[in-house]
Amino acid sequence: MAFDHLLQPLDLGFTKLKNRVLMGSMHTMLEETPGGHLKAARFYAERAKAHVGLIVTGGISPNDDGVVFPGGAKLDSEDQIESHSVICREVHKAGGKICMQILHTGRYAYHRGCVAPSAIQAPINMFKPRALESHEIEETINDFIRCAELAHKAGYDGVEVMGSEGYLINQFLVRRTNQREDEWGGSYENRMKLPLRIVRGIRDRIGKHFIIIYRLSMLDLVEDGSSWEEIVQLAKEIEKAGATIINTGIGWHEARVPTIASNVPRGAFAWVTKKMMGEVNIPLVTTNRINTPELADRIIADSCADMVSMARPFLADPEFVLKAMENRSDHINTCIACNQACLDHTFTLQLCSCLVNPRACHETELNFTAAEVKKSVAVIGGGPAGMAAALYSAQRGHRTCLFEASDSLGGQFNLAKVIPGKEDYAETIRYYECMLEHHKVEIQLNTRPDSGQLKKSGFDAVIVATGVKPRIPEIEGIDHEKLIVYSDLLSGKRTAGERVAVIGAGGIGFDVCEYLAHEEVDENAIKAYMQEWGVDMQLENRGFCKTPDVKTAPRQIYLLKRSPGKHGKDLGKTTGWIHRTSLKNKNVQMISNAVYERIDDQGLHYSINGTANLLEVDNIILCAGQEVLDEYSEDLEKSGMEVHVIGGARIAKELDAKRAIKEAAYLCADL
Ligand code: NAP
Ligand code: SF4
Repeated sequence: MAFDHLLQPLDLGFTKLKNRVLMGSMHTMLEETPGGHLKAARFYAERAKAHVGLIVTGGISPNDDGVVFPGGAKLDSEDQIESHSVICREVHKAGGKICMQILHTGRYAYHRGCVAPSAIQAPINMFKPRALESHEIEETINDFIRCAELAHKAGYDGVEVMGSEGYLINQFLVRRTNQREDEWGGSYENRMKLPLRIVRGIRDRIGKHFIIIYRLSMLDLVEDGSSWEEIVQLAKEIEKAGATIINTGIGWHEARVPTIASNVPRGAFAWVTKKMMGEVNIPLVTTNRINTPELADRIIADSCADMVSMARPFLADPEFVLKAMENRSDHINTCIACNQACLDHTFTLQLCSCLVNPRACHETELNFTAAEVKKSVAVIGGGPAGMAAALYSAQRGHRTCLFEASDSLGGQFNLAKVIPGKEDYAETIRYYECMLEHHKVEIQLNTRPDSGQLKKSGFDAVIVATGVKPRIPEIEGIDHEKLIVYSDLLSGKRTAGERVAVIGAGGIGFDVCEYLAHEEVDENAIKAYMQEWGVDMQLENRGFCKTPDVKTAPRQIYLLKRSPGKHGKDLGKTTGWIHRTSLKNKNVQMISNAVYERIDDQGLHYSINGTANLLEVDNIILCAGQEVLDEYSEDLEKSGMEVHVIGGARIAKELDAKRAIKEAAYLCADL
């Protein structure tokens, strides 16, 4: 059997896990949605049915102080048990095991009543916390224990005590946030009393047949965080206090090191858990940017950990484990770490989903059941929208034909996959290619069918997913040979010189700068990443931060936009800062308020507030947005055919794959 290491069961002494895969905690916002527990039950049960070893829910607060935001989920009374029981029942019926995460956010709570060991405001929160009184700390410990007890009554197999990511427990552990002078501050023994009392209290109250996972911050990535010796000491004490499993936490939320974004190399932090292996006798779980069974299996085989936690990969594909078990890993819809429909949603208080799988968290309402009337469906355009539409259509049993004008499927994802840090976008293309073949979709590459031909071929419905074309603005000299349209650059048709100006600072302008600024590294990618973002792999400094060692860009780059203000403010909520920091580190010059005057042999002429400027550059890369590319719908509609237009072909503004795939899904669910 393949994936021998990953798929072998794990004996916890009193209970056995089916395999070494843990579905990590994700706050989906179903926790706060009225009736969300029914949807959550289905969401978790589908993953349990597909053989995940152990599931951990989104974070649930043990009291009012600890909720993520006003109205955030908590479990502090008997009357809340039933909604949790529904989840547990469904997961157990599906043959799975589930633990509830207990999360007290401390100074990260987004409300006026937030509390912390000391009244020190977090750099990422507008609310300043109040320091807990000593008796309130005792009450908080009791709240954790009571919360676990209620979770047990609800039917959970265990709890995960959230001790990482900079939340309350983490805040107690380090002097950066704990400057108390009483018995909860000062020495490390005092500072670690909170988690130890919580874990011991839960074990004593509930007994030995209850899973207690402790999420341990193994790498704080903030100044004045824990030292490695302290972390090892805590792990040993947590084991003694009665934990069943230790899970790895990487980086506080306020850390300035990306830990899960797409630019983080796959499996980048497994070395940290590996360092802890052998220090404790209970199983250790590793995590972060693990998105394929091959990698997860290798991590276990290399003794980096006893289990592997994956969270977002289970949004992208509920059947991740099942497909691995059946040796069908090429059928897995891989998480591309974009954060666009998961974390970016949660952090803007929208229901979480997944860019590559819009069914995630919508399992009760979005289904691709066998169609009552089988149709013959033509899909025009083989980008994300078209590939998704063709697959969903075929899954419902419609005879489906996909036409693509170029010689390969993938559309804009073929451009995205060459951006450093976006290599995983190629996985989405691989997934669709495999699945389209599996579902016998007829694919015609290098084909632009004409409307008459489509009509004659007897299709019942046509889905137009022809995407976009780059916008060409009216700038004098726009056809000068120095000008390169971004698609020609990224597809390799043209190459750029040593001094480059980029027109347009949207998502693609940023991506193009990243592409131009990238220097190939011969060394190990993980080591190079840690150097670039200032992670101390020797674990010598507290918090493990050091001065980043950034490789300068191989060329001088200017990124221009017409609008005033900061560059990149409309990029993803959780990833925008990474793109901005990365380009700043690579010395990309940001220019706002630019009026483009002309392009000529000298370069790009522009003005700011009437003052003329010249950038003497070799090339100007055009990233000024897109326009709709739809040469079909009007003709087809006139001829009376059933026509649907989706993705960029429908709206080019704010073109994004999330909307494109979602439109394909909802259209085909009803086709
Ligand atoms: P975009 O976000 O709309 O940005 C294009 C930029 O070009 C605009 O912000 C605009 O900025 C400028 N522009 C528009 N019309 C212009 C004109 N006539 N002349 C000169 N400049 C003009 O489009 P995009 O960068 O092509 O990205 C498309 C979509 O792809 C995004 O919305 C996003 O969903 C997705 N995407 C996202 C990311 C990411 O988040 N990392 C990466 C790639 C793609 P000014 O008016 O300020 O000059
Ligand atoms: Fe992964 Fe993106 Fe889906 Fe989130 S939205 S689960 S990051 S593919």
